[in-house]
Amino acid sequence: MRPVLVSACLLGIHCRYDGGERLDDELGERLKREGCGAVPVCPEQLGGLPTPRPPSEITRGDGTAVLAGEAKVLAADGSDVTEQYLRGARQALCLAQRLGCRRAYLKEKSPACGVEWIRRGERTCRGRGVAAALLESAGIEVFGVQPPAGGVEPARAGGVVPPAGGGD
Ligand code: SF4
Repeated sequence: MRPVLVSACLLGIHCRYDGGERLDDELGERLKREGCGAVPVCPEQLGGLPTPRPPSEITRGDGTAVLAGEAKVLAADGSDVTEQYLRGARQALCLAQRLGCRRAYLKEKSPACGVEWIRRGERTCRGRGVAAALLESAGIEVFGVQPPAGGVEPARAGGVVPPAGGGD
């Protein structure tokens, strides 16, 4: 079975900032059909953040700017959680490399997992989350998933999942 990283909330794990999940049955079925073994990761939890937690957003640019030290990740309560996001991204990459994952299916509109979209205030903006940016820079193919429609699009294949409300 081919191991692939999957945002844990898409597998029904209650790891979202509000304690919820975003189970995507269609994705689970698709991965089974393709002979993939899902490895659940929540970069925010792996970085040491609690659940529930205040929602966070990238101050400017996207996860690539955070990796370059040009932007921060701030929680809604004003605390700087940049280091936790960087640690979580590194931990997710470590897991992918140890298990031989070549692909990651990540939830859109998250400051950690977003592949084509992140949230900033009330807006949905183009951009990568911190973990998605790091995984991609290390050669892992990243796919954005936007439940409940379950659309899965290659990050660089032209087609993108349109934003449809809701954040991380
Ligand atoms: S989108 Fe990523 S960081 Fe956010 S709850 Fe899901 S797995 Fe965790």
